[in-house]
Amino acid sequence: MSLEKLRARFRGQIIQAGDPGYDDARKVYNGMIDRRPRVIARCTDASDVMAAVEYGRENNLLTAVRGGGHNGGGLGVCDGGLVIDLSRMRGTRVDQAAHTVRVEGGCTGGDMDHATHGFGMATPGGTVSSTGVAGLTLGGGIGHLTRPYGLAIDNLLEVDMVLADGRSVTANTKEHPDLFWAVRGGGGNFGVVTSFKFRLHPVSMVNAGPTFWPIEQTPEVMKAYQEFILAAPDDVSGFFAFLTVPPVPLFPSELHGKKMCAVIWCSTAAPEKAEKATRAMRAVGKPALDHVGPVPFPALQSLFDPLLPPGLQWYWRADFVKDFSKESIAVHHAQATKAPAGLSQVHIYPINGAAHRVGRHDTAFSYRDANFALVIVGVDPKPGNGATITKWCKDYFDAVHPFSSGGAYVNFMMDEGQERVKASFRDNYERLAKIKKTYDPANFFRVNQNIRPS
Ligand SMILES: Cc1cc2nc3c(=O)[nH]c(=O)nc-3n(C[C@H](O)[C@H](O)[C@H](O)COP(=O)(O)OP(=O)(O)OC[C@H]3O[C@@H](n4cnc5c(N)ncnc54)[C@H](O)[C@@H]3O)c2cc1C
Repeated sequence: MSLEKLRARFRGQIIQAGDPGYDDARKVYNGMIDRRPRVIARCTDASDVMAAVEYGRENNLLTAVRGGGHNGGGLGVCDGGLVIDLSRMRGTRVDQAAHTVRVEGGCTGGDMDHATHGFGMATPGGTVSSTGVAGLTLGGGIGHLTRPYGLAIDNLLEVDMVLADGRSVTANTKEHPDLFWAVRGGGGNFGVVTSFKFRLHPVSMVNAGPTFWPIEQTPEVMKAYQEFILAAPDDVSGFFAFLTVPPVPLFPSELHGKKMCAVIWCSTAAPEKAEKATRAMRAVGKPALDHVGPVPFPALQSLFDPLLPPGLQWYWRADFVKDFSKESIAVHHAQATKAPAGLSQVHIYPINGAAHRVGRHDTAFSYRDANFALVIVGVDPKPGNGATITKWCKDYFDAVHPFSSGGAYVNFMMDEGQERVKASFRDNYERLAKIKKTYDPANFFRVNQNIRPS
């Protein structure tokens, strides 16, 4: 198919180098990524996606698929090839009676939360509202609602997707069940998802906010947090973090620029229950700030948005972790203390609770036996500081990796090689490679954490 033929079939926008808007259209969230695709196909519907896939395949173009464009390694864009850009496909529809929501493949977490909050419901997503639902879900989807309701994929009921041969299919537990198994954790390897259908839960207000402790208190706080979260009821939750208090009015000025360890709380339990259940943990040591109370769920989901606009430099490393020994806590403390000034941080997301009640072979997401997903994130607005945040992140990872479960969450990885991808899927990899061979034998969809057709 020629570009002229694609234009004739296409309802969306085709953007090439030199066209107005090309430089904006090729940007992704991570300012470190600077790639120049030949063609960007901004789709309006599944027919556009089918045409774009056909064009990419027939012209043998390296093809990237862009959902929210948030991937740390920049997997939503490529050099020299085609970008199938879904950022204009952001329709949503809540089925109030069935407690489900259908969202198009370019929706952000904020789009989905906004659509469902009006109905007093929510489904598990991430923790920053501008992240794409597509990439996040296809890799698993870890967030504030993971302990009560599981990963995003544990609430996924169905996808519509365009395959490498250009067909559009529906996958669920009855139609293409092997494909449906694979997209629940296997990333964008199997086709372009044009819409997702999720189960909803009665979540409207949550008891949320941060507790900060000076970083010197890490050994006591991290040990107490681990004990707390492994025993807490599913509806009482919070993730652990290392951070530097940003100089914004939200935080008292005497804390600005100070390194802290923290818990960012989000409990779906009734406020009195959440308050009672977290009180002792929030009083461990000497907290520097404790600001927890009832907030609308979308407000929590967008709490970090103003601090993390698109275009910052990002570099990250990750691991799954079963538990934190006294020795590993000491290593975390030492490495976190060395964080470059600014926005760099470490998040330790609890993935026990509901996510543990799904078997490790029930979906492609393998690490159902890990209790935590760790991510070390170097972030800085200045391109000149890219090397500093990268070095800190890699050094931190090298120091703590020996204490990990081995593999990492695919959505928190950079380009780290095939062995690392295999380590993420463990014994699910072989089945994924077979399904890949069935649905994408030529590995057309390879701008991702790639599963090679077996
Ligand atoms: C600020 C920030 C906060 C984050 N917080 C969380 C969090 O709380 N929890 C969490 O689990 N993750 C989180 N992430 C990680 C996030 O899940 C990944 O970066 C994910 O890849 C983002 O998806 P996207 O659609 O925005 O990315 P994109 O860059 O658009 O795409 C990422 C990958 O998904 C594929 N893809 C995208 N859309 C489609 C589609 N429609 N069909 C098929 N394949 C597709 C792409 O081909 C690519 O391989 C966060 C990332 C950032 C930058």
